[in-house]
Formats: sequence, C-alpha cells, structure tokens
Amino acid sequence: MITVLVFGDQLHRGIGAMLDAHPSTHQVLMIEARDKIESQTWHSQRLFFYLSSMRHFAEEVRAAGFHVDYRLSSSMRQGVTEHQREYEPSEIIATEPNSYNARQLCSALGIRLVRSNQFLCHPDEFVEFASKRKSMKMEDFYRWQRLRLGYLMLDGAPVGGQWNFDHDNREPPPKDDHDRWPHPMTTVYDDIDADVLNDITPDSWGAHPQGQWATTRQQALMRLQFFVDSVLPMFGPHEDAMLASNWHLAHSLLSPYLNNGLLLAKEVVDAVQAAFDGGGVPINSAEGFIRQVIGWREYVWNIYWQHMPAYRSMNGLNAKRALPPMFQAGGHTHMRCMSSTLQSVNDFGWAHHIQRLMVLGNFALLAEINPQEFTQWMWTSFIDAAEWVMVPNVVGMSLYADGGIMATKPYASGGAYIDRMSDYCSGCKYDRKKRVGDDACPFTTLYWDFITRHEEQFVKNPRVSRQVYAARKLQDLDEVKKRALEVLALVDEGSI
Ligand code: SF4
Repeated sequence: MITVLVFGDQLHRGIGAMLDAHPSTHQVLMIEARDKIESQTWHSQRLFFYLSSMRHFAEEVRAAGFHVDYRLSSSMRQGVTEHQREYEPSEIIATEPNSYNARQLCSALGIRLVRSNQFLCHPDEFVEFASKRKSMKMEDFYRWQRLRLGYLMLDGAPVGGQWNFDHDNREPPPKDDHDRWPHPMTTVYDDIDADVLNDITPDSWGAHPQGQWATTRQQALMRLQFFVDSVLPMFGPHEDAMLASNWHLAHSLLSPYLNNGLLLAKEVVDAVQAAFDGGGVPINSAEGFIRQVIGWREYVWNIYWQHMPAYRSMNGLNAKRALPPMFQAGGHTHMRCMSSTLQSVNDFGWAHHIQRLMVLGNFALLAEINPQEFTQWMWTSFIDAAEWVMVPNVVGMSLYADGGIMATKPYASGGAYIDRMSDYCSGCKYDRKKRVGDDACPFTTLYWDFITRHEEQFVKNPRVSRQVYAARKLQDLDEVKKRALEVLALVDEGSI
C-alpha cells in the first residue's frame, strides 16, 4: 500500500496526492503533533478549527473507503516513523506542503511530493511571471492572473473597462444601520467538535467558538453559497470600513477554509464569477473579492516561496520592542481602535484586512515591535493564519521589515485614516487630531516620530519623502518626540 500523508492544511480530496488515491491501493496518514500544539499559546478557536477539521476530514476519507491511520504523536517526524514501522508502506507520498519547514521534513524523511493544485498560481508559474518583469508589483501579477485565468474578462479586456474598482470600494462606514449586513452562518457542533473542545489545552486563550466556524467541507460549501447569495452583493463599498459594533460587515469569512483546504480557490472564484454572470452582483463587489483571492492571496503565497527561509528573520527597520501587554490575554488599552480590534480577535480569532494592516500592523510598525514577535502573535491568534500568509503580510506588508519586497513604502498612518474609515475615534479617550499632550492620539504622535526616526532612509523614497519634509517643518517636533517617548513607555507598561 502507498501511504498518503495529509497535512492539516490540505483537507480536500481533490488536492495533489489525494487526487489519484484509491482505497484499494492507498491508505491515509494524518498526524496531530503534540510538539506543534504545545509550542505556542494558541487562540482556542484556531486550535479548535484546525483539529476539528482534521478529525472530520479523517472521517470523510474513511467514509470513502480509505483506511486512515490518524495518530496523536509527539511530533510529525515521530508520527511518520511510527507509521512506517507499523504499516510498512511501499512508499509515502504527500502533496507539496504549504510551509517551508514541512517541505524540509518531507525531504529528510524521503517522502515523495506530488505537485500541489491548492493554489491558482504554482511557484513554477510565478517564476514565468517574474522572469518577464523588472517590477513584480501585486497589481501586475493580478492582471496577469486575470488574463491567464479568464476571470472577469471579455475578449481579452477587463469586464467593465477597468482592472480595478478601488475608488468604489473605499467608502467610510455608513452613519447608521450598522446591522445591515447578514449575520454569519453558524453550525451546531457535533460530537467530534465537542471532543476537540474538551481536548483543547487549558492554556489556550480567547473565547471558545460559538458555531461561527465550519469544520467540514459540507459546512464550508454552505457558507460559500451563503456568501455568494446574500453577502457578496454588498461586499465592495465598505470592504475597508471598520465598526466597533460589527465584526464581520460584508466580509466572506471564507479565508480559514481556503487556508486549510476545505475550499479550493478555484471553486470559490468560480462561484463568484457565476453569480456575477447571473447579474446579481455589482462589478465592484465581484472584482474586489476576486482581487483578494487570485491577486493578493496568490501573490503573498508566491512571495513567501521566493524569499524563504530568509524572509521570516528579516528586520529591516531594526525594530526591537517586545510584544506589549495589550496583546496578551487580559491586556487592556484605552485606544478604542486597538481595543475594539483586539476584542474581535479575542472573540472570533479574526479581524478583517484593514484592521490587520492599518490598526494592528500600523501600531506595531509605529511602536517598532519586533517583526518576529509580532508575526508569532498574529500566527497564533488568527483562525486563518499560516506561515506563508503571515510572513509576507506581517514582516513585509505591515512592518516594512523586508526592505521593500512587498510594499514600496511603509503603510504608516496617524489617527486621521482610522478616523475616516471607522467609528472608533468618536468614543475614544484620545483626540486623533492632537499629536502632543496627554490626550494626543498615540497613532498621530507615533506617526510623526516614526517618520523622523527613519528620515534618512525615508527621504530617499519618493513615496514617503513628502512626509519627511512635512515632519521637519512641524513647529512642535521636539514636543512630539517627547510625547512619543511617554507614549512608548505607557505602551510598555500596558497603560496606554
Ligand atoms: Fe485610535 Fe487615535 Fe482614534 Fe483613539 S483617537 S480610536 S487611538 S486613532
């Protein structure tokens, strides 16, 4: 018998090595590795989601007739070794793993890798894209993907006459009716879910799940249908908006399933294309969503493989601050934008892309939190996290620690952006317009201080040099720098 080793983020029978597997010739090996589970203090929903999805997938594969060796082992390596000893398979194969370390492990154990079809652009294909260009911007990649995959295309040109509809999709939150978006689907958990909840280590943190996350492919497909039918038409305009009272707005909440394999990118984007073709979805909503999946997601995936293993250790701005207490369980902050976003992470293991980039990431950038510590926190806290997602998005995009691979400028902003795109500032202790004084917005103070801290580097970057010149002209710059030191001291002691 050939053994197919299935990793916890490849839970689909149509992925790579499972595609040609048959119960008469193949058996399946899945491993819950204690060293991985115990290596971090995971968010309880993340731990629950991954373990329960794995155990459900094992049942699905068993029901299809396969013998499944589902093991609880001290490590992946140990699990594979034990399986080899007990089952003596003729060969062990696996779909190309999604993490650098897992590929190293497979190589060390002599596991044959089968090409992955979990993403729409394999790293081999990305090389073809990259080899023809001096610049590898996401926008160029996205258009290349549209052209070759054919989504939202008509006779070789983008449907609607333009490649993106960002200008329609950057509306601030509406003034009222903050409950206008459909409530996310929920599931009544079964015995497997209940067992996993019981098994979750007592030192995991965050609220336990309340049915918001699917743990089977069938439930994930129902959520895809629900999103396409009821949420997608509203997705575009407020995709960047943030509200204290609504954690989901019109976001798909499908990223966990895309990232653990319960859904494939192709079937998700095909469903969106079909809904658009059926006339029920405006172009800005369809395009905004398709951009996230075939553009951003695939771009990040490929940047990870282009720059690993060096990428995860990069610290281009030499940021050294330890993770502040507000990020830890029981932490607190008076900054309403931060406390609201951190509450969403606590309650759901999730926050949307702008909350991640322009609130959490922006704060970590301005406060110069160490990129590796912050990446670790994001990785353990978010339900859809994986190293390939977090390293480029956090080390690169959020913290500008990769020397400009992901972003041509640091995504830094003061309180003005957050005020425009959210309702956080109106109820905050701080005043987003002030940069000095006890009630100055920490984002605004730290923004100007950050720009001048790195002025020698930033003044050479045409995309940030204007801000450097503006900072130099601030008449209260000395006071700003003094206040920034006070703010950072308050951040470190957990009382900002
Ligand atoms: Fe955040 Fe500053 Fe607005 Fe308060 S005033 S919510 S700290 S941006």
